[in-house]
Amino acid sequence: MALSRCQREDTDMSFAEVAVDAPAGNRTFSYSVPPSLSVEPGHAVSVPFGPRNVAGIVFSVAEVAQVERTRDIVDLLHADILLRPHQLALAHWLTDTYMASLYEAASLMLPPAIRGQHITMVSLTAKGVGTQVESVPVGQRPVLAYLQEHPQSLQSALRRDIGGAAERQLPRLERSGLLERQTTWKRPGQRERFVSFLVTAPGLSEDSVADLKKGRARRQAALMDTVLTAGPPIKATEARRRFGASAVAGLLEKGLILEERIPVQSGIQVQEHNEAEAPPKLTGHQQRALAQISAALESVAVEPRSFLLHGVTGSGKTEVYLQALAQTLGKGKQGIILVPEISLTPQTLDRFNRRFPGRVVVVHSELTPAQRREAWWRLYRGEADIVVGSRSALFAPLSNPGLIVLDEEHEWTYKQAEGTPRYHAREAALELARLTGAVTVLGSATPDVVTYYQAQREKHRSLKLPNRIRPITELEGIGSMADVRIVDMRSELRAGNRSMFSEPLQEAVRRALDVGGQVILFLNRRGSSTHVQCRDCGHSVECRSCATPMTYHGDRQRLLCHHCGRMQQEPSACPVCQSRRIRYLGVGTQRVLQEAQELFPDAEAVRWDRDVSTISGQRDLVLNKFIRGEAHILVGTQMVTKGLHIPNVMLVGVMLADLGLYIPDFRAQERVFQLLCQVAGRAGRGALAGEGIIQTYQPDNYAVQVAASQDYEAFFEQEIAFRRSFRYPPFSRLAKLTYSHTDAALSEGEAERLCRVLLRHQRAIGDTESAVIGPAPGYPARLRGKYRWHVVLRSPDPAGFLSQVELTAGWVVDIDPVSVS
Ligand code: ADP
Ligand code: ZN
Ligand code: ZN
Repeated sequence: MALSRCQREDTDMSFAEVAVDAPAGNRTFSYSVPPSLSVEPGHAVSVPFGPRNVAGIVFSVAEVAQVERTRDIVDLLHADILLRPHQLALAHWLTDTYMASLYEAASLMLPPAIRGQHITMVSLTAKGVGTQVESVPVGQRPVLAYLQEHPQSLQSALRRDIGGAAERQLPRLERSGLLERQTTWKRPGQRERFVSFLVTAPGLSEDSVADLKKGRARRQAALMDTVLTAGPPIKATEARRRFGASAVAGLLEKGLILEERIPVQSGIQVQEHNEAEAPPKLTGHQQRALAQISAALESVAVEPRSFLLHGVTGSGKTEVYLQALAQTLGKGKQGIILVPEISLTPQTLDRFNRRFPGRVVVVHSELTPAQRREAWWRLYRGEADIVVGSRSALFAPLSNPGLIVLDEEHEWTYKQAEGTPRYHAREAALELARLTGAVTVLGSATPDVVTYYQAQREKHRSLKLPNRIRPITELEGIGSMADVRIVDMRSELRAGNRSMFSEPLQEAVRRALDVGGQVILFLNRRGSSTHVQCRDCGHSVECRSCATPMTYHGDRQRLLCHHCGRMQQEPSACPVCQSRRIRYLGVGTQRVLQEAQELFPDAEAVRWDRDVSTISGQRDLVLNKFIRGEAHILVGTQMVTKGLHIPNVMLVGVMLADLGLYIPDFRAQERVFQLLCQVAGRAGRGALAGEGIIQTYQPDNYAVQVAASQDYEAFFEQEIAFRRSFRYPPFSRLAKLTYSHTDAALSEGEAERLCRVLLRHQRAIGDTESAVIGPAPGYPARLRGKYRWHVVLRSPDPAGFLSQVELTAGWVVDIDPVSVS
């Protein structure tokens, strides 16, 4: 479009390109800047858009507009320039890469308070009060009638009550002077977040409980039982879900229980330190790694500027980050340290605080809005120069980031999996580094296969820390990894042991407990329900075209590939060994805990998983008990694999490694390998030698085998060959398109339609490299009452491909998804 000079008299008229908070895609709109305002790129503004005012971000300011007629910017939302130039550039990149709107991408970087919404109040004028409903055009009547009943109404409430068509009549009524609208910026209040728990009412008598049990209110009785059970209190929301809202209301009404509101604490208390702790002398390997990072920090000419720091847990990676950070700060730049949310433990944070007292800001999901705002402004004003946090810390308002670290770079939580933009923090970090000249360090014991492949091809420089650092109490030297054994559960079954604890595991637990050591028992939570496995030979059916496991669907009595949709009959006997002992795998931590208590009655066993851990207080309680040594056995899910430094843990048992291997996803093996390595890494962190036991029905599976030997290279070789032959990433890029609907047939039909559209487009542009895979049902196929269907696009540039086709409303696009299930 040709740029046209503005026709106004005013010669120093200027125009702003603004990304607006409206479904407007990846473009900006031109607005004129009224003389009363001074507007710069990075300002947040309020602009008219259609019939209302919306928020916007100024991306550029120029003397010409893209269009002939422009409307004025209404106001600045904040006097400060909120987004820095490199952040505006990053927003553009996020938009192009992940197919999000420009405003959505930019809003990731706005201060929390401003990320609210406009609220528009509609009020009836005196003229409106006196106007007969019948005297206005038919379409406007419902609006006028509604307002005569509610003379002051939120526009959103009006829309909710009488619909969007009525809402569209508002401007007309406004022009005829019957109503007025006023828009204000809704700022989140200073209110704390609360969680409600159900507790027993004071003075609760046993009689009243007994009466309740005799009565017919079965759900109330069951809920009462739960409230009375020792252990973490039940959340009100959970109680309503499990027992029904009326059971909760019933007990509240009878006065047997109370609802108690407790403010959510950040859960992470950081100790204050005044004096910076002195860094230790680096080992030779650490020195060599740091020297290379330093060279890049010193000179922008050093390429590549990203590093893969590959080292087992306890090999001293964090120490390298700390010293690289010290150099970064020394040059007057700032540092961003990303860690998976789950490993934001007080232990981790304390290390940064001890080394850099008063300079660290922590960003994580449990901050209250007020804390979040405080963190943002401290960094914006340069009062702190280190931000440690989960993926969103990447968008902190730093003026000059010099170092970006992603610890545990392989973690899936680095990918934003819901909402928009669905960015991957690793890719976004690399882009931010490119834009600012910063150095990126990706650290992991088990790098993502894609990252490792890139490092082999010199996209990142590879740095290795091959050995564990011994505890400081020991002599200089090399610590040993845990000794890990695989136990074949098939032979346990043949020997008549039906317990979840194999003989070798039972013995090992006893050995550890006997010498006063502690034990962690790990159970993979995902993928436990729908896959079928032969208990005699461990065989499980895979799809011929995708090499991913097929899952069982009860409603169709079929095995189904969730990747390509292939379907086949459920076998009655094992196709390999003809055994009829085929069953679904499915166990929970509660069962493991029970059995542990029965088998080892003298030991104190506790459970730590997401159920107990949503409340940070409870999480700390259970965990501290274990850390202090008051509990001897810790049973847990994924959470126990991260960030725990407990020297006294002598044994780590993996209850069933097979869980998770059969998730219908090409990354399932990688995921299990990473998990098992991390679990094994929990043992032997102190002076005592550690032991690991992995129980499995599939001792020959390569992910299980190489995890036992903790041999990353061996795993990588196998995995990359698999990826190459099935053309999975890094040999392609994927986009996952998801459609959900309560109507199963409609959802499936829409998925089929989209496949045809994509195939037609592919033919039309003569694209021979891309492939349309599916449609296939999601895993699980039904989520929150909606049937999910996937279409996967494999293409060198999936976002580019998709931007050329029209996607109907309802499709959710995920570029570079971490899972295709
Ligand atoms: P990773 O991040 O790879 O898990 P850490 O940096 O946490 O490893 O190091 C493991 C342990 O060794 C920590 O307790 C750390 O304080 C200690 N440590 C790291 N480097 C050194 C060193 N050069 N000298 C002495 N102790 C060290
Ligand atoms: Zn079999
Ligand atoms: Zn398939």
